[in-house]
Amino acid sequence: MPNGLDLMYREVVVETRHYTDRLFSFRTTRPQSFRFRSGEFAMVGLETDGKPLLRAYSIASPSWAETLEFFSIKVADGPLTSRLQNVKEGDEIIINRKPTGTLVLDALLPGKTLYLISTGTGIAPFASIVRDPKTYEQYERVILTHSCRWVPELAYGSVLMQTIEEDEVLREIVGGRLTYFSSVTREDHTHVGRITKLIDDGTLFATVGEAPWDPAKDRVMICGSTAMTNDVGNACKRHGLTEGSNSRPADFVIEKAFVG
Ligand SMILES: Cc1cc2nc3c(=O)[nH]c(=O)nc-3n(C[C@H](O)[C@H](O)[C@H](O)COP(=O)(O)OP(=O)(O)OC[C@H]3O[C@@H](n4cnc5c(N)ncnc54)[C@H](O)[C@@H]3O)c2cc1C
Repeated sequence: MPNGLDLMYREVVVETRHYTDRLFSFRTTRPQSFRFRSGEFAMVGLETDGKPLLRAYSIASPSWAETLEFFSIKVADGPLTSRLQNVKEGDEIIINRKPTGTLVLDALLPGKTLYLISTGTGIAPFASIVRDPKTYEQYERVILTHSCRWVPELAYGSVLMQTIEEDEVLREIVGGRLTYFSSVTREDHTHVGRITKLIDDGTLFATVGEAPWDPAKDRVMICGSTAMTNDVGNACKRHGLTEGSNSRPADFVIEKAFVG
């Protein structure tokens, strides 16, 4: 029985990094013919008993990078991640050939400030977008928000910001126009509370020094849990922003970081 395995890329893990007992990232080789737009996701996984075991994964590396990076949850009894969390350098992972998704610059109309709102592993597509030079050609300012329950869960975003700062070329492209805003819900931190509350009560805007969302100049991408994407999507609508898609670019776009 054909199961599509022969049509998939087989790539080698070149690096893994564990942040908490629930979160890790891994990098793999990149097939030369694998093209994607920053922000898209692909089906990624492992071959088990001769069959592909695949899940949707946002590609966290930018479209120009030589390797592919992914940021993953570890679900103890998850069919894929109970296994995937044990991958190490030299192991093989499989990737479906057709990346897709709505968190792409093409799905938004031109604007001045781009807000990237994420919870948990929802930061993954934005790790791609904030490292893409096109983002800074199209926007004067980029604001990346990452919200989690606990402070250690913010580690991937802090490392990402540090990586950008330490890369001479990226630092010049970004030119100080990327602002990172982090918040947690379960312990003390600079900003505490759900991101929807921090949007609604004006904390986000006051902190980054911008006026509340205005369809004339602001664009928003949202990625995270269903509750968060719904709530922030509604907040966008209350500010007069219209939801866009690949075929009808508009002011904001949404992708759920997982089904559940
Ligand atoms: C468009 C899209 C993009 C995605 N991108 C990513 C990504 O970049 N990184 C990633 O880790 N996952 C991502 N996911 C989720 C991913 O596809 C899998 O669900 C995840 O890898 C767990 O797989 P599993 O087989 O171990 O468990 P599953 O059976 O798939 O999931 C078991 C349960 O774990 C919970 N869960 C699953 N994924 C997450 C998550 N990311 N955060 C919190 N809880 C979760 C849900 O409640 C789910 O019901 C994405 C999903 C979609 C639809």
